[in-house]
Formats: sequence, C-alpha cells, structure tokens
Amino acid sequence: IVEIKGLQKSFGSHVVLKNIDFSVQPSQVVVIIGPSGSGKSTFLRCLNGLETAEGGTVVVSGHPVVEGGRMMPETKLDALRAEVGMVFQSFNLFPHLSVLDNITLAPTCLRGVPRKEAQEQGLRLLKKVGLEHKAKDFPGTLSGGQKQRVAIARALAMDPKVMLFDEPTSALDPELVGEVLQVMKDLAAEGMTMLIVTHEMGFAREVADVVVVMDHGSIVESGPPSAIFTAPREARTRSFLQTML
Ligand code: ATP
Ligand code: MG
Repeated sequence: IVEIKGLQKSFGSHVVLKNIDFSVQPSQVVVIIGPSGSGKSTFLRCLNGLETAEGGTVVVSGHPVVEGGRMMPETKLDALRAEVGMVFQSFNLFPHLSVLDNITLAPTCLRGVPRKEAQEQGLRLLKKVGLEHKAKDFPGTLSGGQKQRVAIARALAMDPKVMLFDEPTSALDPELVGEVLQVMKDLAAEGMTMLIVTHEMGFAREVADVVVVMDHGSIVESGPPSAIFTAPREARTRSFLQTML
C-alpha cells in the first residue's frame, strides 16, 4: 500500500533522506525510531506530499506522490491527503470549533457528506476513542490526551487507507500517554495500516509488525521488533537503543 524507491530529500545542500527504499503492506504497523534529526518526520511528510522530494518514487494507496523525482501536482494532492490521515505531536485542533465540528469539517467541506450523516459518523468515531460525552465541548477544555484522541478521530473521519503518526504522545503528560496508545492499539487490531514515529519502545515491541531504525537520513535496519530489540545487527541501532533505556 506504500512503495518507496530511492527517495531523496534535501534542504538546500543538506541531504536529509538518502536513497530510502521501503514498502508497507496493507494492515501493517510500522514503527520508525532513531535519533533526533535523523529524518523521521521528513520521511513521514514525504508520504503525503507535505515535503517536496527531489529523487525517487513514492506511491501511497495508488497515488504517485513522487515519480522519478517529480512531485505530484498540487491539484492532485487533495485526493491523496484524503486517504492519508496524519496526527502530529501538537494536536492542531480548531479552537473555535466544538469537538464534533472539528471532526465533521473535512467530510462536509471537502467531500460533501451531508451534515447529519457526518455528525452521526463523528459521534461513532468519538465513541471509538472514548469521548462521545465531549462532542459539544471546545478543544480548550480538554486534556492533552483527550485532544489527541479527538485529533485521531478527526483523521479517521476521512476514512483513510493509511495513518501517519509523528510522535503523537511526546507532548503529553506521562499519565495521559496510555489512553492515546490504547486508541492506536485498537486501530492496529482493526487492521489499519499505520506508520508511527515514537519513542514508546514498549508500544513498538507490542504493536509493531516492523520496526525501522533511521540515522542520518538512511534506514539503518528494519525488521520485526523481536529482532530489532533483542538482536540488532547494526552498531548504530545498539547505540540508539542504549540511549532509550
Ligand atoms: P526529531 O526526533 O527531533 O523530531 P527527526 O528525525 O524527525 O527529528 P527531521 O525533523 O526529519 O528529523 O529533520 C531531519 C533533518 O532535516 C534535520 O537535520 C533538520 O534540521 C532538517 N530539517 C527539517 N526540516 C527542515 C526545514 N524545513 N528546513 C531546513 N532543514 C530542515
Ligand atoms: Mg521529528
């Protein structure tokens, strides 16, 4: 469902992604780990056209995001982004809209879903993330964990084929991390295809099908969590995991 070949990305003369090859099968959960500045966020952003790549090929859910180093035209990116949900460290909810309106905005405005139908779906999604009772509240009144669960529900409202998460729990107080990870675990169990950048090694061990280790813009190694965490092949993986203890 995701095919990446020879992906290259630079900022000026600084090469941030070097010849990345990777593919993701439907329903796979991929956890991306690696030191700060290794290119994890840039990698995710290349998958939904938030960054302009200079080389390689990226196909996501049938959409050629990058083809022979050329970006898909901006006009076609909307169709791609409708199928690729993204959740960031900062929740990016619209503060002036209720929780439910945050969720129904994209389906009603971008996809023309009737308001009533979008609201019913929104309430179903809120129930899924355990926040049905907050539908009418405003984001400012929610805890960080609740905001992030609304952000996940909002992304799901577009019925994405792939979900990208960039450190979804890094901005949360420790006691709120678990509730967000639980929602992600439920999604994984339902067969959602997910790429997740996280420092939560316990979650990676439990939920990932594949763990990808990045360093200096390259994939150092990738494999099942049992292999990466208990028998890493690369010295760079070992030294990164040491810093995580
Ligand atoms: P972190 O764990 O700190 O989030 P990361 O692995 O997500 O790090 P990226 O944010 O992808 O790393 O950054 C990779 C490299 O690209 C870094 O050296 C960073 O300074 C550089 N970089 C990222 N965004 C930009 C930008 N908009 N302009 C210039 N350089 C950038
Ligand atoms: Mg990052």
